[in-house]
Amino acid sequence: MRQLTLIVGLVVLTSLACVDRSPSSEPSPRGAQPDRLFTGARVIVGDGRVIESGAFVVRGDQIIAVGPADQVTAAPDAAVIELAGHTVMPALVNTHAHLGWEKYTDWGSEHFTRENLIDHLHRHAYYGVGTIISTGSDIEDIALEVQQAQRTGEVAGARYLVSPGLGTPGGGPNPRFTDDTGWWGLHAVTSPAEARDILRAEAERGIRILKIWVDARDERRGAQVKLRPDIYAAILDEAQVRDIRVIAHATTLADQKQLLAVGARRFIHMPYDVEVDDEYLALLEARNAYIVPTLGMVTRRASFRRPVFEDPFFQEQVPDEVVTMLRDAATETAAAAQPQSAATEERARVIRENFVRLRDHIILGTDAGAVGDFFGYADHLELELFVRLGMTPSDAIVAATDRAARAFGLHDVGSLEAGKRADFVVLNANPLDDIMQTRQIAAVYLRGAEVDRDGLRAQWTR
Ligand SMILES: [Zn+2]
Repeated sequence: MRQLTLIVGLVVLTSLACVDRSPSSEPSPRGAQPDRLFTGARVIVGDGRVIESGAFVVRGDQIIAVGPADQVTAAPDAAVIELAGHTVMPALVNTHAHLGWEKYTDWGSEHFTRENLIDHLHRHAYYGVGTIISTGSDIEDIALEVQQAQRTGEVAGARYLVSPGLGTPGGGPNPRFTDDTGWWGLHAVTSPAEARDILRAEAERGIRILKIWVDARDERRGAQVKLRPDIYAAILDEAQVRDIRVIAHATTLADQKQLLAVGARRFIHMPYDVEVDDEYLALLEARNAYIVPTLGMVTRRASFRRPVFEDPFFQEQVPDEVVTMLRDAATETAAAAQPQSAATEERARVIRENFVRLRDHIILGTDAGAVGDFFGYADHLELELFVRLGMTPSDAIVAATDRAARAFGLHDVGSLEAGKRADFVVLNANPLDDIMQTRQIAAVYLRGAEVDRDGLRAQWTR
């Protein structure tokens, strides 16, 4: 009986919350494409709610109504798309990747071109990613031009959000980037005043997201010192005034605590060095902070990871030669592999423990494009890892959609609700039963337009 009451309560709540009150049954605006009614699918809203037999109306690039199928009405001239037997979920929001460098048979700064960036946006779109934040390794002029071209509709694919990087001289991304002879560097800062100047200039260029590195790795390779607390305090302060969202790369508990104390709310990486404590958890709560654990990156060498190149879902986006290349490289690595050290095992244990305690703060980010994780595919791998480490499939989807969007104030994406962008994925199976089913993609729609997945696959695999 208790179960039944709960279900009835949920249905009432869902109806109240989800059905759009705007008059969707009025005719579509004249001269525009007719509205589209997608009906009969299970609708995963993105914030944890599910409508078992749902419907939604898309007008142009927006969702204008969502609710139970028997309560959503569309304009008389609306096109009806029957989706019975399918599940629809919001397009993913990936908050950490590095676009532009990957060329699939090669990798490096020379590939950072407008054309390659656009290709990477299409690759994300193909796999159901609607928004992608590229963190700290982009050539800003090229990146901003592509971002602008996308706003005007000239460029499609996942929405591109550029996030330039700040760090100490010699600091910044991993050595694969900084050792590249063509690496263009980062915004180097040595004082609070300098940091504030950079933020003012970036805000004027329209930048809304910035990355900072607070990492001992930087000291080891010749940066003067790890980014100082007085400098990052100035960055966080100036960012608030300039409406810029800062995401901090920091991998130790001590650094994350200090950053939280001066206002940081977003982290790339969770503390990997020690188990998190109550003080840290209280700071995360108080700040309403978000963590991008990039598990795919940290578990790359872990034994439970299947070789991606054997997965047909991966093979859809690369020619056979790339699969062969990856297989050969893996054979070489396996031949040279050392038995897992005690330190590695201990680190894996800390990651597992920390992940469970941090799970309400976790959001999606893949680090794809940096060290061999592939765009779009890596997002599904990350969802799988979230569940392996203790999330329910529903939690994992929230972390990858609504929560990820909220972390960056992206109020127009992340959930299937009236007024949001029509960014969604149609699945042939229910990922709430098994998170691997996010890979059963029937179609992807971004801004209301269906992504030409067959065309992209043909282009990439030939
Ligand atoms: Zn990264």
